[in-house]
Amino acid sequence: MSGHGELEPCPYCGGHANLSKIGRDWYRIAADHVTGCPLEDFELDCPQSDDQLPLLLRDWNTRVDRRPANCAEKCDQLKAEIAGLKTGYEAYEAQNAALKAEVEALRKTAPSSEVVWCACGDGHAANSYGAGFMAANNGVCENCDAATGKGERS
Ligand SMILES: [Zn+2]
Ligand SMILES: [Zn+2]
Repeated sequence: MSGHGELEPCPYCGGHANLSKIGRDWYRIAADHVTGCPLEDFELDCPQSDDQLPLLLRDWNTRVDRRPANCAEKCDQLKAEIAGLKTGYEAYEAQNAALKAEVEALRKTAPSSEVVWCACGDGHAANSYGAGFMAANNGVCENCDAATGKGERS
């Protein structure tokens, strides 16, 4: 096989490839595949002409050879993409949970959520000064206390 040393072996089984002339005016590339190789029945033919032979050699050396590599590359790309999406979604979920917790915490400490009412109709937020005053003054608000006179306090 002198002159055709540029032929790569089979990309799947590594079987030695060879170029032969078939019929009257065709080139054929075939390889000595291991039994069960996916390219076992694969042959590459081209007309016998000076410009077709380089194309045939290129086809065998590149097209068949690169396909699995491309697939793996694509696969990795997709995997990375999926991982990215997953990470994004997880981040979104985490952010969502954090926001929910924050809202829950705010709800608990929100001054308006609990109001202590005085008989006069005045309301004071549970954790405000006014509510603290009422708690220390038998539930009577500061205004009422001022109006009824300070003497009532025991
Ligand atoms: Zn093979
Ligand atoms: Zn009052």
